[in-house]
Amino acid sequence: MVENGGADLLHLDIMDGHFVPNITIGPPVVASIRRITKLPLDAHLMIEDPARYVDALIQAGVNWLSVHAEADVHLSRTIQHIQGQGVRAGVAINPATPIGRLEEVLHDVDFVLVMSVNPGFGGQRFIPSALHKIRKLKAEITSNKCRARIEVDGGIDIRNLNDVLAAGADVIVAGSAIFNDHVTAFDALREMKTIADRRSDRLELV
Ligand code: ZN
Repeated sequence: MVENGGADLLHLDIMDGHFVPNITIGPPVVASIRRITKLPLDAHLMIEDPARYVDALIQAGVNWLSVHAEADVHLSRTIQHIQGQGVRAGVAINPATPIGRLEEVLHDVDFVLVMSVNPGFGGQRFIPSALHKIRKLKAEITSNKCRARIEVDGGIDIRNLNDVLAAGADVIVAGSAIFNDHVTAFDALREMKTIADRRSDRLELV
């Protein structure tokens, strides 16, 4: 349904029960998803020491891969390793993590994943201070001439989508807004996509 509805990516939340309290899916399930869609797979690793699982997920067929800055003490090495295998590398940051934490890797990453809820569970409310953070990050990326795109994840729906886009988001992740609040994922996705398309043709919706 979301493929037909115009999704550009399929975002997969990988949780380990340590970095976040919840547990979701691992490489075998990702490999199964790979077989049923042509969409690029965007794996968001909410796991401790994520480098341990990078190779298994790339083998499973992911195209975008983000690790949390808070969970990886060798962030630069992990980014290089991901990109060395032809996969887009991103760094995710929790709501309490300042963008200054990205200073030394901003030039290297393909995208930054700004969490607009505390990671671990679906269905949470968007944290308003994330808008300020997105604006600051956008200014930082522009002034340093980085290629990094800004992906925003958590609590985004048709009511706040415009604000998130206006702040500078390039890629929007939506879970509950598409799968919970509407009769079909197809219609919900079309609705969000229409709002995004009105602003720019450069934006992507996941
Ligand atoms: Zn996510």
